[in-house]
Amino acid sequence: MPKIYNIYGTDSHAMTLSLLEKIEAANLVPSGANIILKPNLVVAGSPENGATTHAGVLSGCIEYFRENGINDITIAEGSWVGAATLPAMKRAGYDEVCRRYNVKFIDMKHEKTRKVDSPIGPLEVCSLALDAKFLVNLPVLKGHCQTKMTCALKNLKGCLPDREKSRFHALGLTRPIAALGSVIKPGLIIVDSICGDLDFEEGGNPVHTNRMFCGTDPVMIDSYGASLMGLDLFSVPYIGLAEKFGAGTTRFNPEDIINLNEPENAGKYPRPSGRVANLAKNIHEDSACSACYAALIRALHTERKGRGQEIYIGQGWRGKNIPDGALGIGRCCSSAKRNVKGCPPSAKSIAEMF
Ligand code: SF4
Repeated sequence: MPKIYNIYGTDSHAMTLSLLEKIEAANLVPSGANIILKPNLVVAGSPENGATTHAGVLSGCIEYFRENGINDITIAEGSWVGAATLPAMKRAGYDEVCRRYNVKFIDMKHEKTRKVDSPIGPLEVCSLALDAKFLVNLPVLKGHCQTKMTCALKNLKGCLPDREKSRFHALGLTRPIAALGSVIKPGLIIVDSICGDLDFEEGGNPVHTNRMFCGTDPVMIDSYGASLMGLDLFSVPYIGLAEKFGAGTTRFNPEDIINLNEPENAGKYPRPSGRVANLAKNIHEDSACSACYAALIRALHTERKGRGQEIYIGQGWRGKNIPDGALGIGRCCSSAKRNVKGCPPSAKSIAEMF
């Protein structure tokens, strides 16, 4: 059974290195294989805005694989329809990474494509992605206005020419995203969940989870990502459909999730702003870890019932009285009569307690 490895923190470069070293990722790469790093550069935006993969994820991958004798590494991505990829690449700081490590960046919008069979008929996909001997998918876990969330499976849409991206939308996204998952098989997925947006893939309202996680099964990764965002699989139907199309499994057990460190290592949640601050109006927070607070924000976003409730969260409430009727989040607030267990609990488990 594949596993998922979690790490908390704020330094995407160091976190990436730790994840890769822990899973001994070099052993996954076939001998002599080239590596394509596929980040999310949907629009030209700073990763801190919640849309794009942090440059440190790329530099961490490059350093790790080079240190392990794997030198043929390329970064490749194509922004969404209507946005040019190269400005997005510069805005996210990838030009500096490419310069420093002498790594090529390829705009997949302008690459050769070919049609491949899929469970819903032929899909036109960039040949570079199809021919990569080892593709490392580097999505951002974030909200999406149509599909509710985007993570590993949907990030592969950047491997399509613009005309095919538009056709995916005309087909309603669910079936083609699931089918694409059966056509492009990444060797590894590292999810940047440091500050994915609340509900738009183009960013604007980042939620600071300060977490990254990795695994080899994109369907399992997306199922886990959905639970972190408080979503059940029925509300993100492309995940279950991808399983039916043979792209992976939706099933995972608590013992399949391995934490490399504790949520406290990610530090306290930064002062929320915008829509996130609005959702936080009734929260009594005292030294809450980012992952815990982010789970609560995600739960309040997906389940309106929670918004009028008095909610306590944070290490500062350990062992203190929490008023009757209030909801306590996580192990630190276990003195509350109504307590969501976990450290940190998932957004899904919080939403179920509202
Ligand atoms: S339960 Fe406490 S220690 Fe655990 S993640 Fe939440 S705030 Fe941090």
